[in-house]
Amino acid sequence: MKLHFFGGAKSVTGANYLLEGNPNAKGETTKLLIDCGMTQGSKKESAANYEPFQYDPADIDALLITHAHVDHTGRIPFLYKSGFRGKIYSTAPTKDFAEELLIDSQGLLERDAEERGNPPLYTLRDVNESLDIWQGLRYHEKLRIKEFDIEFFDAGHILGSSFIKISAKDEVTDKVKTIVFSGDIGNVATPLVKDTEVIEEADYAVMEALYGDRLHEVATSRKDRLEDAIEEAVTAGGVLMIPAFAMERTQELLYEMNELVDNHRIPRVPIFIDSPLAIKLIAIYKKYSDDPDYFDPEAIALFKKGDEIFNFPGLKFTLTTEQSKEINAVPAPKIIIAGSGMSEGGRMIHHEYRYLSDPKSTLLFISYQSPYSLGRRILEGEKMVKIFGEDIIVRCRTNSIGGYSAHADQKKLLDWLRPMKGSLKKLFLVQSEEDTAGIFQTKVRDELAIDTEVPKQNMEVDL
Ligand SMILES: [Zn+2]
Repeated sequence: MKLHFFGGAKSVTGANYLLEGNPNAKGETTKLLIDCGMTQGSKKESAANYEPFQYDPADIDALLITHAHVDHTGRIPFLYKSGFRGKIYSTAPTKDFAEELLIDSQGLLERDAEERGNPPLYTLRDVNESLDIWQGLRYHEKLRIKEFDIEFFDAGHILGSSFIKISAKDEVTDKVKTIVFSGDIGNVATPLVKDTEVIEEADYAVMEALYGDRLHEVATSRKDRLEDAIEEAVTAGGVLMIPAFAMERTQELLYEMNELVDNHRIPRVPIFIDSPLAIKLIAIYKKYSDDPDYFDPEAIALFKKGDEIFNFPGLKFTLTTEQSKEINAVPAPKIIIAGSGMSEGGRMIHHEYRYLSDPKSTLLFISYQSPYSLGRRILEGEKMVKIFGEDIIVRCRTNSIGGYSAHADQKKLLDWLRPMKGSLKKLFLVQSEEDTAGIFQTKVRDELAIDTEVPKQNMEVDL
């Protein structure tokens, strides 16, 4: 087998790997792609998405998708547009989420293209035709593509997320070789999704190491901290703004708020979900809410009791722009949850424009804020920011809770790896900043004595 690293090598985003079988008598090989993600970040990094693929998409037999996040799926319609006509496989929820996320990012690409005067990376038609060749599977459902046996395991990262085990028999030695692609590995305490599964044996692993250099805040205390943050904000009498990613973060927040409301732990105030994408994604969560394959047993038990996790007193969904504007007329205190997660756009920016200068209002950070994003600058104490070309003085209160990451920390990553310690011939660390991968590489060598490499972009290895 041959493994190629086309994206996600020394880079957090843009996951794209190619696994190639041994040549047959005619010299042909089976080619499997694993993930086809968008590169996100600076303008220069994003420009890489428009470059042609480094392989011929028409040659690819199948594309396997670990989970719906755009840094793992965002270039699928472009792959299709570039000639890919194989089949796409993922879990069923991943397909459903990807549909909404790809339609959403197509809209963003369209707007971006208009500004630059270029055609968009792909059209809605490319999105729809990609979905036509996409098959949803369950975890552990048998899948065979030519000589490869493929199995999806629960990665515990977001609903339907998976790591993928691929095995093939070596015709010469008659031995089965196994490789695992980790996708993104989940944090310890994610209330909606099930725990990360483990895998006992593999010869090779391609593993994410995003937080390979750090330990998360203890997640068990985060609900208490959320309760405190809401109480303080409501007592101050202003607006509590929570910038949140539409996928998973918003739903987890709602899940915990539902519990706080049910147990009368927070005062009853209007709570607005002001994100059309988050609202569409909630419908998909509901679709799978009685499926023990995907949902945490505790969450299912709540659903069975008739508790609608995503619908509690005070909660309002504002889908249209008109409904969003009407939030302004509702007197404070009130809570607004909206995208983007880093205050870089979405509807949240409109609320921040209005309320950042209000000393009674609060901005609550629950997710990673990338360097230079508006969220990061406010978090670091900047007192004057520009929104819609206007200077806004930041007078509101700020607060942050760190336990909401959907990603494993160093300890969890090591725990996932440990059972494979005896069998792994080589570990490849990906989807991480280079320094972080280096730190985790040392840790893995010291603690588990596994031969570990941080591959370079476009590297090719024989397995
Ligand atoms: Zn992810």
